[in-house]
Amino acid sequence: ILKINGLEKTYTSGSKQLTVLQNISFEVEKGQTFSIVGPSGSGKTTLLGLCAGLDEPNSGVIELCGYTLSNLNEDECAELRNKEVGFIFQNFQLLPTLTALENVSVPLELQGAKDAASRAKELLEKVGLGNRTQHYPSQLSGGEQQRVALARAFSNRPSILFADEPTGNLDEETGEKVIQLLLELNKDAGTTLVIITHDLDLAARTQQILRLKGGQILTNETTPNS
Ligand code: ATP
Repeated sequence: ILKINGLEKTYTSGSKQLTVLQNISFEVEKGQTFSIVGPSGSGKTTLLGLCAGLDEPNSGVIELCGYTLSNLNEDECAELRNKEVGFIFQNFQLLPTLTALENVSVPLELQGAKDAASRAKELLEKVGLGNRTQHYPSQLSGGEQQRVALARAFSNRPSILFADEPTGNLDEETGEKVIQLLLELNKDAGTTLVIITHDLDLAARTQQILRLKGGQILTNETTPNS
């Protein structure tokens, strides 16, 4: 479902060039659970953004859901993301002026869903927030905000979900709930999961672990779960 070949990414600031990813090639199979680990600054978030078509590489080929991203224009890329991709960001990125329900329903409405509000309610119930739908993000705990972000990411029934540190700011118990939800989604709906994590126990529960260091692949190993 995702195939990366010879990826390179360089950031330019002023006259300085910083190569943050080099020589990256790997594949994620449909329905697989895949984690990306590595030290801070090793390029994980950059790689995820490239895979999801949110940014462009300097060289290399990215195939996502059967499309070569460089062959798509911006609108086509956005359409592919709306249809097939879910994304959970490191800092949730909920809209502060919208309630939990609206944070989930508004993107659905924008995509033309007629039953946006009822779908959003259903999704929030699924992540255990049926009694928090009218709360604003500032009135929710970090774990609750993360679960709203999760409900939003599930809302378009993505075939692939990219999650950047989904348990990063959560206590162990809440983190476990979020992991359970993600693994359930994989099992029940067959959603492919690509997860960035510092939590090696979480990585060990996925089927494949890609280890980055200094912008390069150190190892790409199959775990006993596959
Ligand atoms: P962390 O685990 O701390 O989130 P990471 O592995 O996700 O780190 P990235 O966020 O991908 O790492 O960053 C990789 C490198 O690229 C870092 O050195 C960072 O400073 C640099 N970088 C990231 N975004 C930009 C940008 N927009 N412009 C310039 N440099 C950037």
